[in-house]
Amino acid sequence: MSATQRRRRTAVGLPRPTRDAGRRVTELGHDRPEMARERARTERRDLDKERGEPLAGARGGKRRLKRMGRPLDAWSTRPRILVTNDDGIESHGIVALKRALDPIGEVVVVAPESNQSAVGHQKTLSRPLRVRERTLPDGSVGYSVDGSPTDAVSLGLLGFFEEPFDLVASGINYGANLGDDLTYSGTVSAAMEAVINSTPAFAISQEYSERVDFTLAGIAAARVARNILEHGLRRGELVNVNVPAVSPDECGGIEVTRLGKRVYQDQLIGRVDPRGLPYYWIGGPPPSGIGLPGTDFHAIVNRRISVTPVHLDLTGRRLLRELPGWDWALDTAAVSEEDAAVARPPATEQERFAEESQLERR
Ligand code: MN
Repeated sequence: MSATQRRRRTAVGLPRPTRDAGRRVTELGHDRPEMARERARTERRDLDKERGEPLAGARGGKRRLKRMGRPLDAWSTRPRILVTNDDGIESHGIVALKRALDPIGEVVVVAPESNQSAVGHQKTLSRPLRVRERTLPDGSVGYSVDGSPTDAVSLGLLGFFEEPFDLVASGINYGANLGDDLTYSGTVSAAMEAVINSTPAFAISQEYSERVDFTLAGIAAARVARNILEHGLRRGELVNVNVPAVSPDECGGIEVTRLGKRVYQDQLIGRVDPRGLPYYWIGGPPPSGIGLPGTDFHAIVNRRISVTPVHLDLTGRRLLRELPGWDWALDTAAVSEEDAAVARPPATEQERFAEESQLERR
């Protein structure tokens, strides 16, 4: 067993019944006053700068942030890379991604136990998470979690492993994640979760085809990972990569793109189950898109690898300017006594809400 494997094994015992374990739990909490102060400081800074501060050199930042954005040969130790996906630990794409990144850094695989495609940014709060050690097809050790891609990233970044990560890579998803797909994508949400936790990340997806081959996507993943480690990302930024279903020879290279517009062809299929009860299934043909040059969709259609910079600031800039001009007077006189009574849950329910939120905080 290598030193790394040993380290991973000891990490599984977390939280340990020592004084240290207690301290760790405090560190992981969300209500430390210095964290609140730091958040307030960040928010003030962001008021002045629409696009945030660089991760590198952030005041009081953790080691992984300070190490960002250097040529790989200038790193004192190998970068630590967390690999996850939404297709599940048993998918072929995650092994392809792990193997593509092995030459670059110390790769740790944590992924959902089952396929979690299109779960979006789901976070599990109402039940415990179980983690299992797994043997991947290449013989290496990985971990599965009975939760979402976001849960997998949370485990990795909130202390399941002893050491932090320098990069999170999510994929290789089987099926493209273009334009509006990002709002559904578990693959991209995993990268978003990393960015929320101040760890640079990218998502990579392979265009659907009947005979899937992750060769080109593996090459692209290695290139993207090197670039992010060498150049760094800023607060709120991630990179979304889509790879066309072609061989490396047929590929027209990499194009930096913006998000395009998806055209969904969803249909509501209504049928009757064997017990005579109706059920509904959201089906229909796969989505198409609008092929505007410069978009991710256009690049993929034209056999180029699409690399899209994404920012978590979803603020609508036009509306931000326009909304102050709308009428915002609050019509308090319009609330009837009946409305008011319905809006306020009875005392018994208030108690239940309080109890539930207590449980969630624990
Ligand atoms: Mn998927």
